[in-house]
Amino acid sequence: MIPQPLEDLMKTLSKVPGFGRRSAQRAALHLLTHKDHLQKLQADLATVMRDTKTCTTCNSIALHDPCHICTDTKRHNNTLCIVEEVADLWAIERSGAFRGQYYVLGGLLSAIDGIGPDEIGVPKILSRLVNSEFSEVILALSASMDGQTTAHLIASKIKPLGIEVTTLAKGLPMGAEIDYMDEGTLSFALQGRRGV
Ligand SMILES: [Zn+2]
Repeated sequence: MIPQPLEDLMKTLSKVPGFGRRSAQRAALHLLTHKDHLQKLQADLATVMRDTKTCTTCNSIALHDPCHICTDTKRHNNTLCIVEEVADLWAIERSGAFRGQYYVLGGLLSAIDGIGPDEIGVPKILSRLVNSEFSEVILALSASMDGQTTAHLIASKIKPLGIEVTTLAKGLPMGAEIDYMDEGTLSFALQGRRGV
């Protein structure tokens, strides 16, 4: 009943994170009934394919390889921040609170999905750190089980190099009300308390 080219488009769209079969169908039908959007999407996809690169140093996505962060001489070359995804790098950059270098893992360790240290580039991180100016590695990974497993593994490989390894503070988000916090968050916030 559904024309094959449309079926193929829906199948491709349904592989996009956050898109199930139904949302892929909605998006495909929307594009077919709004040809201007379809043409713009076609042009944007071609431009993105042509003009963006993965930085071979940090794995971020940028206009050039190496990217503008890796080549910025005004940034601190002694601190490396390790994040899971490019979106995490962008979020930390938006905060304006970090002026060091980055490494994007592209995933977390996962026994179920067969993702081991090699898949997230642990050997690449270590070769970047050996004989470098880096004196601190910040593990800015999520507080999930996989995030913490990954952080422990990376920390255990980096510490023998004599480089300090730190993680982000865990605790109350800005504007949080204490009686709305879950026990885990409150417990971390108490452990991470500091003088005022
Ligand atoms: Zn880079």
